[in-house]
Amino acid sequence: MTDTPTQLFIGGAWVDAADGATLPVDDPATGEIIAHVADAGPKDARLAEDAAVGAQDGWARTAPRARSEILRRAYEIIIDRTDELAHLMTAEMGKPLAEARGEVAYAAEFFRWFSEEAVRIDGSAGILPDGRNRMLLSRRPVGPCLLITPWNFPLAMGTRKIGPAIAAGCTMILKPAPQTPLSSLALAAILKEAGLPDGVLNVVPTSRAGEVGEPLLRGGRVRKLSFTGSTQVGRLLLAQCADTVVRTSMELGGNAPFVVFEDADLDKAVDGAMVAKMRNMGEACTAANRFFVHRSVAEEFGRRLAERMGALVVGPGTRDGVDVGPLIDVKGRAKVEELVADAVERGAQVLVGGRTPQGPGCFYPPTVLADVDPESRLMDTEIFGPVAAILTFEDEDEVVRRANDTPWGLVGYLFTEGLDRALRVSERLEVGMVGLNTGLVSNPAAPFGGVKQSGLGREGGRVGIDEFLEYQYLAVPVQ
Ligand code: NAP
Repeated sequence: MTDTPTQLFIGGAWVDAADGATLPVDDPATGEIIAHVADAGPKDARLAEDAAVGAQDGWARTAPRARSEILRRAYEIIIDRTDELAHLMTAEMGKPLAEARGEVAYAAEFFRWFSEEAVRIDGSAGILPDGRNRMLLSRRPVGPCLLITPWNFPLAMGTRKIGPAIAAGCTMILKPAPQTPLSSLALAAILKEAGLPDGVLNVVPTSRAGEVGEPLLRGGRVRKLSFTGSTQVGRLLLAQCADTVVRTSMELGGNAPFVVFEDADLDKAVDGAMVAKMRNMGEACTAANRFFVHRSVAEEFGRRLAERMGALVVGPGTRDGVDVGPLIDVKGRAKVEELVADAVERGAQVLVGGRTPQGPGCFYPPTVLADVDPESRLMDTEIFGPVAAILTFEDEDEVVRRANDTPWGLVGYLFTEGLDRALRVSERLEVGMVGLNTGLVSNPAAPFGGVKQSGLGREGGRVGIDEFLEYQYLAVPVQ
């Protein structure tokens, strides 16, 4: 980790912040500072914007095959350096090394996927219905983009945006979360090594997100915002985009229902719950937030889930055998503690966990709550921690209504062995993605995204590149 870059990456060069500011990055397992990273201010944002705007025309005209090959080379470098990148990610974010290695593979796959899409951007040509005009339809890059990412998947949230932007021919400014800038800087170094021209990607970690982001969005030169983060911040950024009509893709928060019907295979349901709840310590927008379990199987499901959750080993992500690392910071853990205390006050039973351990690090134990009151705050708040809250239901209409009774609509999970019910309920759920008898939906080849206040647009899949392309229609009279 000694050679991990800690400066801003602007115009292909590593530079300090113009005012010399730095921000500390700490290890959430110990609270110790592991690096000081250059902390961009408005002047640096302007330089990054100049670099992205200056590189746009040449990059748009670069052959798709050349763009594709840069992505493919970067994919291979990332895979070769899996261990190094996984250690870096665990150090700044906390997730266990095995999960970090999994994220490296997931992140790299966006580059491989979009290297394959870069050479398949097509258009069409034809005679219009009046017979007197031709239409030539082509696709062009949107232009310079601002990419803003959260801390929970430090590498994959970046590659999910950078991959399609490179493939489409857009230049970009990446603003990573201040808790986890090191993975993004390492990624920039890899892309430079893979041959990305100067100015195509610029990375500006900052502790002054508003001062960096707002002038870029209001300035009229950035043509696209791709944001992943909370719905609250997403709303604010949408307002900032309104004045200059900046195009947006918004991957926002979730409040996933996890529904277990009476005809579910409980082995599959408990396995699915472990993934949907515990992936990334519960710090995922796809995390199951509300477990609706049919009354006839709720006790058995709760008992089995509590047994599995209670057997997980909590500790620093670098230690062998650890399943659950620390939460991102003290604030994140305090939120989880408050939500559990509120549910318990309203009568929830703690089947396992629920007590913050003593000592350093932001650890919180895997926790299962049963008989949760539907009025509890965790029903309409993203828990973002290893807490499963179980409620019971009696019939299908009731559970569909309750699952949809939220402003969010990212993902839902269904467990049933009945095909008709599986299809019927999936179609009635107001979500962008459904996991049917599985707790994992994320895949670079599938369109990821939500409806309602979970966002706008999709990332990944065949449609992921569309977010970075515009249509141009050329009218040509038939002579
Ligand atoms: P967040 O507080 O919304 O922050 C996300 C990013 O936005 C960070 O880089 C943050 O930097 C930046 N930001 C905040 N205010 C800004 C402003 N005024 N101008 C420009 N940038 C600004 O979210 P988070 O706590 O990092 O991440 C957790 C959230 O992300 C959850 O809600 C989760 O569901 C969501 N998420 C969604 C998806 C998805 O694909 N739908 C995936 C992962 C996570 P600062 O921290 O410096 O403010």
